[in-house]
Amino acid sequence: AKQTGGDRSMIFTQSIQEQIERRKLIQQSLLQAVEDQEFELYYQPKIGGLSRRVCGYEALVRWNHPTLGMLSPVEFIPIAEESGAILPLGDWIFENACRYAKSLNDIGLIDLPVAINVSAIQLSDPSWLDRLMLTIDKVQLPPHLIELELTESQLLTDIENSTDIINYIRSRGIKVALDDFGTGYSSLSYLRNLPLDTLKIDRSFVSHLQEDQENYDLAIIKAVTTLAKQLGMALVAEGVEQATQERILRDIGCDQLQGYLYSKPIPAEEFLELCLKGLIH
Ligand code: C2E
Ligand code: CA
Ligand code: CA
Ligand code: CA
Repeated sequence: AKQTGGDRSMIFTQSIQEQIERRKLIQQSLLQAVEDQEFELYYQPKIGGLSRRVCGYEALVRWNHPTLGMLSPVEFIPIAEESGAILPLGDWIFENACRYAKSLNDIGLIDLPVAINVSAIQLSDPSWLDRLMLTIDKVQLPPHLIELELTESQLLTDIENSTDIINYIRSRGIKVALDDFGTGYSSLSYLRNLPLDTLKIDRSFVSHLQEDQENYDLAIIKAVTTLAKQLGMALVAEGVEQATQERILRDIGCDQLQGYLYSKPIPAEEFLELCLKGLIH
């Protein structure tokens, strides 16, 4: 699993016993925390490669834990997946992201789709799709303003089921993106059969991008851009931190850029201000 620098040092400085206790505490307080609304969605803009404006944004969950402080999804999402708490938590995330997108749309920030991360556990829950559709009806968000981000590994565990679900989701006008592309172990051939709207190339390919050196990452991103175009999919690069990376990605023809260069994930009000100030939209 990916770890941030902070998480890593946390793991080195805590004893095994402390880690187990922390994990137990997180697991035990997850369900109640959904009820108590201790979670918060942060939003990170996606920038158009050509337009250089905000063309969408991703919802990223945070947990304001009463005793442990602000928790990263890198720490609690895997625990939520193991315990099944990801189902109610995922429902909360989906509904709140939809409500936020609806509110932006209603004040005239139109045509900005919200990208929402979906866990494999949600995909394999037989009633998840029904709840999803009910929520969209309730919130009255135009479905084309929703993009679900799924990862390779979760799609490939049951490719037939995944294909059915994706087909259904897209038939309702919702978009589907493949997240962390390039980090899985699978061959490229399955891509042909998965009806996707967007490929998100993993940030590990973006982070070493440099112009004037022998650079495999550059070759890979070029190839993936061509592949996405051929398959009729949009390409998003995540983890864009430096102007050099931005320039290369734009030159290659990458459709959308996301990363700290533009903005970290920020709280809802702050993201709204960012859009309203016209700084990036
Ligand atoms: P992800 O979906 O691949 O999200 C991208 C992660 O990269 C986010 O970390 C984001 O803050 C971070 N990031 C964005 N730009 C940059 C950059 O320029 N440089 C670097 N170094 N990092 C950047 P975050 O928010 O900690 O989320 C981590 C992971 O937790 C996500 O990876 C996703 O797998 C999971 N996650 C987050 N929110 C949700 C959610 O609502 N539902 C589910 N199921 N998983 C979530
Ligand atoms: Ca994502
Ligand atoms: Ca990703
Ligand atoms: Ca990820």
